[in-house]
Amino acid sequence: MREYLKFYIGGEWVDALGPHTMDIVNPATEEVCGRVAVGSAADVDRAVAAARKAFAGWSVTGREERLEVLRSILDEYQKRGGDLAAALTEEMGAPASLAGGFQVGLGAGHLAKAIEVLEDFAFEERRGATLVVKEPIGVCGLITPWNWPMNQIAVKVFPALATGCTMVLKPSERSPFTGQIMAEILGAAGVPAGVFNLVQGDGPSAGVPLSAHPGVDMISFTGSTRAGIEIARNAASGVKRVTQELGGKSPNIVLDDEDLAANVAAGVATMMGNSGQTCSAPSRTLVPAARMGEAVAAAREAAERVTVGDPNGDVVIGPVVSASQFEKIQALIQKGVDEGATLVAGGTGRPDGLEKGYYVKPTVFANVTNDMTIAREEIFGPVATIIGYDDVDHAVEIANDTEYGLAGYVAGADLDQARAVARRIRAGWVAVNDGFDFGSPFGGYKKSGNGREWGEFGFHDYLEIKGILGYAPDDAAS
Ligand code: NAD
Repeated sequence: MREYLKFYIGGEWVDALGPHTMDIVNPATEEVCGRVAVGSAADVDRAVAAARKAFAGWSVTGREERLEVLRSILDEYQKRGGDLAAALTEEMGAPASLAGGFQVGLGAGHLAKAIEVLEDFAFEERRGATLVVKEPIGVCGLITPWNWPMNQIAVKVFPALATGCTMVLKPSERSPFTGQIMAEILGAAGVPAGVFNLVQGDGPSAGVPLSAHPGVDMISFTGSTRAGIEIARNAASGVKRVTQELGGKSPNIVLDDEDLAANVAAGVATMMGNSGQTCSAPSRTLVPAARMGEAVAAAREAAERVTVGDPNGDVVIGPVVSASQFEKIQALIQKGVDEGATLVAGGTGRPDGLEKGYYVKPTVFANVTNDMTIAREEIFGPVATIIGYDDVDHAVEIANDTEYGLAGYVAGADLDQARAVARRIRAGWVAVNDGFDFGSPFGGYKKSGNGREWGEFGFHDYLEIKGILGYAPDDAAS
């Protein structure tokens, strides 16, 4: 049983100012596994004041000083990898393999990338008669979700530090443990007091006061489209910069070639990972209609290979995060059946032998049409949908017929064709044959948000751009 009743503010662990706490439920056991203090507007005030005070010093540190701090964080982070993984398994039900090697590894990968980018990042450049200077935007409010908690914290905190910003992090109320350990890591690594501050709580208690706070210059938010819109509204009166990484309903276009079965299977396996709780998951598999039977057989087999159970055991997926997510997913699976899609694997109800814990059967629907609810709404569970297309133009049309535009996937043997199709998808991140790169930009078109994270692109939103005029256009030295 974990008990985290203090917040990290101004370089110290301080008592929460209000009396409220929240119980954290382990989704694998449905039992309380922790108690965490709930922050209030007063706690947020205190954290913002600490960040504001620290900004004067941190914002003018040189590249070398920031690099030293980031390298020290990487050392501490690696020492605490096991603790982070254990926390992830408790708060989210992430299986050990996913929590440790993968998710903790993602955080380390983003940190290593931030270090590499900072080594060469051009904070100043001459453009004709102007010196263009990139300066830290100020105090940042970082609001993160529960689904990949370590990854989401990493892609905000590390670029914010690297660019000279100070910050207040508010992790999701469903996954507070990893945020708490992250604060311990940053403290141990020697991040100066007030540069990084942590307040826990939910949206109304701590997220709203943070996003509306006049002392905050920028909000970086990852989460639902609903909350993203509310945050932008609350930030509007202060004319803050708001970046939003929101939901998705990403297409996976499987091209008509000899690799079809293997590519469908790979896409379904990706969809099921993390129990389907991934914003960029390939939730719509688009296959040639004439080969629906072959695709369905491959998808069914892939889903049947996904073992579900106790995340401390040898399983592919654990539970989904909460009772409310479990109920939402069950309702959407039922909706798929009611709207006439063909259920080819899984379905409603718990997997056999799993009476406790929020476990969902790996589910596949075939003969889905793009107007069905299961093709339009983000399910955020291990549910794949298969949609038939007539030709590549039709596939692209279906792919783009969504209010989201976070990610896309194209799988096929002909790389040139796959890359050409990738260009036509209206989304910020398109993986061809499952490519992955910490240096690629990550973020959404349309209602999937704005702004970009990861690598060098992740630095830009934390910087103001200033032009200093009066230089002689042709004389770089003057
Ligand atoms: P959520 O929107 O419910 O909560 C996210 C965070 O926002 C939490 O910290 C929460 O406390 C806070 N919050 C909620 N309402 C708020 C408000 N009115 N003002 C300020 N803060 C508020 O989302 P979630 O359920 O934690 O996460 C799942 C969602 O996140 C999915 O829609 C998923 O697609 C999205 N997501 C997107 C990305 C991306 O990079 N685009 C990545 C991961 C998750």
